[in-house]
Amino acid sequence: EAKAIGNNRLRVYKSEYGENASKRTKLLFDLKSALTNKQLSVVYQPQFRLHDKAISGVEVLVRWNHPEEGLIPPDVFIPLAEQHGLICEITDFVMQTAIRELTAADLLYRTVPRVSFNVSAADFNMANSPERFVKLLTALPGSWDVIELELTETSALLNLEGVRNVVNVLEERGVQVSLDDFGTGYSSLSTLRSLPIHEVKIDQSFIRDITQNAQDARLVKTIIAMAQALNLRVVAEGVESQQQAAYLSRAGCAEVQGYLYAKPMPLTSLQSFVKNISSAKARF
Ligand code: C2E
Ligand code: MG
Ligand code: MG
Ligand code: MG
Repeated sequence: EAKAIGNNRLRVYKSEYGENASKRTKLLFDLKSALTNKQLSVVYQPQFRLHDKAISGVEVLVRWNHPEEGLIPPDVFIPLAEQHGLICEITDFVMQTAIRELTAADLLYRTVPRVSFNVSAADFNMANSPERFVKLLTALPGSWDVIELELTETSALLNLEGVRNVVNVLEERGVQVSLDDFGTGYSSLSTLRSLPIHEVKIDQSFIRDITQNAQDARLVKTIIAMAQALNLRVVAEGVESQQQAAYLSRAGCAEVQGYLYAKPMPLTSLQSFVKNISSAKARF
């Protein structure tokens, strides 16, 4: 099964690169040139409103197509980039590329009402971090309220002060903030109090077993109720089955993202996907 193969591949990668220092050194070396050699690209994974299956946004995910190794998962090279000061360059590339591609295809605003970017702690570490984001977003042809930054407690929120400096500046322009992998960090609730958050994304590890595991199911229901009480949008990630979708719908989850609806795809596929969306709707 595809998922098992994917997970195994990731495990192999993680152990290979995690334990093999020389391999990691080579990968780091290669990553430095990947940016200049056009080996990085972005893909888009649509998110949907559960009640009418309309596209509510897309999440932008980076891809590295290594000339010899093939596709290297971001779970492998993003931590490497974070550890060695390369993440800002990657963030620049991802934001510039996605804004340019989506604008050229005229998908922003009308067809894709929200674009979410994953960001890391180092993106907030510099005194000029707010200006960096402002400069990147100046490329937008219209208002900035289509932009969302996804923060995780294990990365970006390591530097709460830096995040706050950036968010204070961007929030005035309409930029939204999402807590990614919600529930897996150490202080989800205190984070909600200390930042202007607009959305929580329930981590896929909680979604995976909701139809078999009563405790996971109750936990997810509780997160959704909490989000509603705090007026936060809630997105479930990693939705793979109709049964999971049905449970989430009953629990009042507003938005979903997962292989059941759409996999991450390059721009050209996204263009045909949105064209066919009305016929695609019939499938769900
Ligand atoms: P994430 O932000 O939590 O992204 C969701 C991950 O789940 C993506 O993996 C996506 O392809 C995958 N996914 C989506 N739907 C399903 C599903 O139904 N089932 C399963 N099993 N998986 C699903 P991906 O693209 O490999 O990215 C992994 C992580 O790498 C991301 O987790 C994010 O933390 C990080 N990442 C990806 N792109 C970027 C980036 O541009 N910048 C930064 N800083 N981090 C990134
Ligand atoms: Mg994310
Ligand atoms: Mg996530
Ligand atoms: Mg994640």
